[in-house]
Amino acid sequence: ENMSTLSISTIDHASKDSFPLCMKRLHVNLRSEHHLKHQARQQYGLFLKGAGLSLEEALVFWKSEFTKKMDADKFDKQYSYNIKHNYGKEGKKTNYTPYSCMKIIMGAVGIDEYHGCPYKHTSSQALKQLLETTNISAQSIQEILNLSQNGHYQIACTKYFEAKHGISPRSTAINHPNQFFEESQKLKGR
Ligand code: SF4
Repeated sequence: ENMSTLSISTIDHASKDSFPLCMKRLHVNLRSEHHLKHQARQQYGLFLKGAGLSLEEALVFWKSEFTKKMDADKFDKQYSYNIKHNYGKEGKKTNYTPYSCMKIIMGAVGIDEYHGCPYKHTSSQALKQLLETTNISAQSIQEILNLSQNGHYQIACTKYFEAKHGISPRSTAINHPNQFFEESQKLKGR
């Protein structure tokens, strides 16, 4: 059951208003670098699937960015299989589910990788810079930084939700990026 449906035409707007910071960052990086590494593609691609982006739109979306840096043939050969795979259209036809916060938080993130949870895997300085791009108050940013430094990653994320929406999520805390998105979209009446 999926009330909110993301499409290519709404994704930029939604990334600013309704994405948790982990996914907003991946979106921004994909748009600016025209590439994401494997783990980042998995984390973001499965989130987008969970948010209702269809396979057809996902292929167009990823291809439009990647082909700013590589030719279409290379994209089709090296990347489209994996996208179809995530939608269960290739290989074992497993239906891959989007990652939960716990899975993302427990994962490993290398240098020059942008997946993971920014509250856990980003330096305070980089997290501060990231938060400063989101139009929330300096006081909220400080509270979020304190929570992150003390290891309260999901509470920091919940605080970010409150700062963005002026209201708490209905659930006590954010535990899934798609839950963040769906609660946000409901508040916005979409
Ligand atoms: Fe993403 Fe979860 Fe981290 Fe929030 S707490 S930024 S939804 S991984």
